[in-house]
Amino acid sequence: MKKLTLLLVALVCGFTSIAQKQPFEQYGYKVKIATLSKGKYIEHFDQDTIVQIGTVLMNRRSGKIMSFVKYDTTLGEYSLKPELVSRWMSPDPLAHEFYSESPCNFSHNNPVKYIDPDGRAPLDVTLGGMEKDKTLQQVNSAVQGITVTMADNGKLSYTINQGQTLNESATRLTQAIDDHSVNVTVNTTYNAQNSIGGALVGGSFMGTKVESDGTVQSTNEYDAPTAGRIDAAYKKPGGTIMHEITEGYEASKMSQKSGQSSGPDGTQGSVYGAAHKAALKQPGSSITLTHYNSSGGMMSPIYDSKGRDITPSDASYHGTVWRAKGQLIHVISR
Ligand SMILES: [Zn+2]
Repeated sequence: MKKLTLLLVALVCGFTSIAQKQPFEQYGYKVKIATLSKGKYIEHFDQDTIVQIGTVLMNRRSGKIMSFVKYDTTLGEYSLKPELVSRWMSPDPLAHEFYSESPCNFSHNNPVKYIDPDGRAPLDVTLGGMEKDKTLQQVNSAVQGITVTMADNGKLSYTINQGQTLNESATRLTQAIDDHSVNVTVNTTYNAQNSIGGALVGGSFMGTKVESDGTVQSTNEYDAPTAGRIDAAYKKPGGTIMHEITEGYEASKMSQKSGQSSGPDGTQGSVYGAAHKAALKQPGSSITLTHYNSSGGMMSPIYDSKGRDITPSDASYHGTVWRAKGQLIHVISR
């Protein structure tokens, strides 16, 4: 914050000194400003004392806000002028997520299938992050009887393969996709660390948010390469991602029922434990961590009261090898 303040002070001082170099000022002359469009367009001049930034008129010399500009954005609707009525007020803030579709469409042009409560995006099961293509492959290796596809924005859809029966992974996934009152998001990465600095052993539940309209968003984080190696060690292709998706879905339904948003694992009142149990079983949760010190020797692990490995990564620490069923799944080294 201090750095930011200093930068701002430096910027303001810079502007002021430029403004004072205006050579006619000392003789009491006001400078006429030449415009390119003769007032047809709004032009911005660096020498202007009062500038408009957004809806704020600011005096650049004194640094004070002069006044606020008010726009009546509802006027167009009331005047019923055909050129003004029903105009979009702003570009779709999520247009970049749907670049294959027109920014003027709603609910993928299919309001029967999708529910879009606030005009941002329809709810369902969505993959985000860097590894969503790999994750989609893992999903398809777990399901039978359906083929799962992904839109540009990461949203999953499925088609039923004629004449095939759905296995449990497929049944549970189609249930989550078809339930438009919740949005299960799995953010994928190749990094075995979640966004709050914890270890990401396959996946982490990051919490739910109950919206004012009763819909629920859940978020899980997922390390696709490590999870893939866990699946391989336990010979359950796509097992870890199916656990994460159904865990997010179960957590969302629990939050929807109680009306309470939930924090991640370890926070007070988290639905994590119950959702983890209600989800499809993980291929294997027993991961052995072996810590090495800088001279190559093994460090004895230290566990907290809940059995979590809290071996300190102090100066002597060099790295950790993760194994599932004896197979190497991930290596951390400093
Ligand atoms: Zn879990």
